[in-house]
Amino acid sequence: MLLQFNLPIPIPIPCFPTSSLIDMGSFQLSRALLGSRRNWVVRSQASLTRFCSSGVIKGVSDTSSPSVHESPSASASEHAVANASEAILKSRTWNEHQLTADQLQFRSLASDFAENELMPFAAQWDEQKHFPVEVLRKAAGLGFGGLYCGHDVGGSGLSRADGAVIFEALAYADVSTTAYLTIHNMCASLIERYGTEDQRQDFLRELTSMDLLASYCLTEPNSGSDAASLQTTARRQAGSTDYILNGEKAFISGGGAADVYLVMARTGEAGPKGISCFYVDKDSKGLSFGRQEDKLGWRSQPTSSVILDDVRVPERCLIGKEGEGFTIAMSALDGGRINIATCSVGGAQFCVDAAQGYVSTRKQFGKAIIDFQNTQFKLADMLTKVQASRCLVLNAATALDSKAPWASASAAMAKRFATDECYNVANDALQLHGGYGYLKDYAVERYVRDLRVHTILEGTNEIMRVVMARHMIKSQA
Ligand SMILES: Cc1cc2nc3c(=O)[nH]c(=O)nc-3n(C[C@H](O)[C@H](O)[C@H](O)COP(=O)(O)OP(=O)(O)OC[C@H]3O[C@@H](n4cnc5c(N)ncnc54)[C@H](O)[C@@H]3O)c2cc1C
Repeated sequence: MLLQFNLPIPIPIPCFPTSSLIDMGSFQLSRALLGSRRNWVVRSQASLTRFCSSGVIKGVSDTSSPSVHESPSASASEHAVANASEAILKSRTWNEHQLTADQLQFRSLASDFAENELMPFAAQWDEQKHFPVEVLRKAAGLGFGGLYCGHDVGGSGLSRADGAVIFEALAYADVSTTAYLTIHNMCASLIERYGTEDQRQDFLRELTSMDLLASYCLTEPNSGSDAASLQTTARRQAGSTDYILNGEKAFISGGGAADVYLVMARTGEAGPKGISCFYVDKDSKGLSFGRQEDKLGWRSQPTSSVILDDVRVPERCLIGKEGEGFTIAMSALDGGRINIATCSVGGAQFCVDAAQGYVSTRKQFGKAIIDFQNTQFKLADMLTKVQASRCLVLNAATALDSKAPWASASAAMAKRFATDECYNVANDALQLHGGYGYLKDYAVERYVRDLRVHTILEGTNEIMRVVMARHMIKSQA
């Protein structure tokens, strides 16, 4: 079934013109994104492949190379029809008038990548719990592995607002894989901001290229929302500058697959001021992983506990000063929350488009379901929620970029609203598909599953309200 957009009753959903995405016209990748590669023109996947084979864009390899992602397996073939239809959906947005020329180009680049490298395979990765590391490296080849890091360490030097535009376009195709990419970027930006110059130079190049993948380790079995109560310890070894880490981290995205773990551990007193942040190598003696969690969504990325049993970490791997770890962790989460929110926006926008396409062709009672005014109102409400979320995300991103005093509260507000409302939108889209929405033949069920966790992680939405309320009370005092 091909989704139709010649609606019996037109609903004005402005779309990024399909032709411009397929043909791409020719556009210059921005100076910020490409740095020294600025004059290269990307037209299509073929061009990306050509650039790669000439070694210009690292990590974008011949799509015929063997990996799970090149040819759907028999078990995934049942999704082929739905996937083929979805492949024609393109990321849409109502905020193009707010975007800079550069942001429009970033968005085009990300949409093109999402269309070619994520959307055709997302259902299969979800089903097979496949973590598409090679595809992530291709994304890094376009500059998406170190969005907020400096050019000198291979980063793209972009703003939070730029990042939101890119992640929304990627999440439109695959929420789960994009969400991991946001976590990796959160880790890289943490080092960019709080690392010494030596640490930046030592650690960031392999992170921005995604030769090494990173995980963020705050949560523990007995310390979730109350993160400042964490119990993992980091003690100086007598007669040495090394630290010895002991404890367990829970729910770590990328756990077991990532190469680098940014671990918050207690070096001092109880509470937030006794916490420090450490860069821990996967190969460290004493580091091990729990079983891979079997999750409702986010199945294209692994989640596991991380166990530290007398793990020796040299002093040069302390990020920031002793006692600054909690501040560092929370400040990283400001950006992380904006990115999780923007992943919700991208996923929900896909659901609106998919639902609109479906109800335009599905007939009951002798007419297309979209001809019922109730359906039109539902679609209008869904799109309003997505757009309101997008506006809050952009507002929070610009607040963070400009270091506004309300940036943390804005990030919490955007995360709370966008992740709640976009989940509701995905659920509504499933409802509009009727019984078919409950089947894996249609992608909306995967979006519902993937979006659900966004209201829980990187601080639950109850904790987002705590953050906002604290800011309100403090600013009134
Ligand atoms: C798939 C997945 C991936 C994750 N990835 C990571 C990761 O990469 N790194 C990492 O460090 N963590 C990660 N997490 C952990 C996540 O951040 C925590 O699950 C989350 O912060 C909540 O902690 P908790 O699960 O312990 O819930 P709890 O803190 O036990 O909360 C349970 C319930 O009580 C509510 N509650 C708690 N305190 C209050 C309060 N003061 N007021 C009102 N309500 C309250 C909560 O909102 C929640 O509804 C991940 C979690 C999941 C599910």
